[in-house]
Amino acid sequence: MAKIKLEYIWLDGNEPTQVLRGKTKVVDSSKFSGKLDECPQWSFDGSSTQQAEGSSSDCILDPVYICGDPGRTNAHIVMCQVLSSDGFPHPSNGRAMINDDDGDFWFGFEQEYTLWDKATNKPLGFPAKGYPAPQGPYYCSVGAKNAFGREIVEEHLDICLDAGLNVEGINGEVMAGQWEFQIFAKGAASAGDQIWVARYLLERVAEAYDVVVNWHCKPVKGDWNGSGMHANFSNTQLRTANSKAVFEEVCNKFAPQHVIEACIAVYGADNEQRLTGLHETQAIDKFSYGVSDRGASIRIPLYSVQNGWSGYLEDRRPNSEADPYKVAATIIKVVKGGFEAGDAVQAGTYGSNVDDLTIVEGIGPKIASLLTEAGMDTLIEVSNSTPEKIKEILAAAGKRYATHNPGTWPKQAELAVAGKWDELKKWQDELDGGK
Ligand SMILES: [Mg+2]
Repeated sequence: MAKIKLEYIWLDGNEPTQVLRGKTKVVDSSKFSGKLDECPQWSFDGSSTQQAEGSSSDCILDPVYICGDPGRTNAHIVMCQVLSSDGFPHPSNGRAMINDDDGDFWFGFEQEYTLWDKATNKPLGFPAKGYPAPQGPYYCSVGAKNAFGREIVEEHLDICLDAGLNVEGINGEVMAGQWEFQIFAKGAASAGDQIWVARYLLERVAEAYDVVVNWHCKPVKGDWNGSGMHANFSNTQLRTANSKAVFEEVCNKFAPQHVIEACIAVYGADNEQRLTGLHETQAIDKFSYGVSDRGASIRIPLYSVQNGWSGYLEDRRPNSEADPYKVAATIIKVVKGGFEAGDAVQAGTYGSNVDDLTIVEGIGPKIASLLTEAGMDTLIEVSNSTPEKIKEILAAAGKRYATHNPGTWPKQAELAVAGKWDELKKWQDELDGGK
């Protein structure tokens, strides 16, 4: 009986940039016809991937996307999201943060990367000593003088298309040895799934040539372009806007400082090295938008203008190492109504906020500062406290705080600390002002 190879791939818990892992499950062909729901959950040792402690180390691989694996015989690739042993999304699981059930958002990611020579520790095409000729001739180049690594790029394109990924194009990029592929999908999760599978396939193709894929956003310092993952996006509102004002309204949702920070938090590590205001970028701490402006944070493509102000936008800030799930989740969240302090899903996506007490429903900025003054300045301390203790702090602050009921606050904080964002969000939806 023929055997089928299923390559389960997932993202580990490496910080600040998660890395792909994979292992093969062999199944009988009699039990498998190529469908996702025929792929069982599987487990792995999370203590070896920075996703669990050694004492309780099993994490769960939950299949979310399947495609053929043209690089192996009788094989499929199974993209998985990681669940904790309790069945809830693991804190490293960016896919779980996508709030896009209706598939109304479409994404086109432009994934740039650099093919890297292990021997010289430089991009393909760079001499062992010094630098090649300055940038200019490499972008969309042809010929051995300027194009380096095409055999890998071509093989990767074919294997992606054979697998059924919706790759829309490839091109040589501005720096020698730098390339790009583009993937479009309707639905944020699908776009993220396909980018991750394409990254996996590129790693594997390049591995056979003993070439490294360098995903870093600024692999060569100095006057060399960095690598981005421009995120083109639209929803029904943008696609049918027929209005300049609608485009400006959506762009302006990205402008507040706390939104800039929330975006940059998930737009890839070391982005300050790339978003300098040079090399077709806007500076990392600034926000701007403009028609056809490649120096803006968000570019309004000429297409959208000429299409009667209907179409899509391009956020140029996400970098080549960013997690497309988190990028898409963030863009959707901003467009759907922005960020509010105390939003648990936001915190789950942007883990650095776990000391934001306002994640607990019922704690506003005023009460958060009261608690902080009383020495309760982290969610861990709130979770270790009791409603009675918190009530004392509130009562001491005056009559207007005495009416607040902190009954659920320690338990809410506990869920936040444990990274159980979905559970917390569900509970908060049922709570009324934290009561
Ligand atoms: Mg590009």
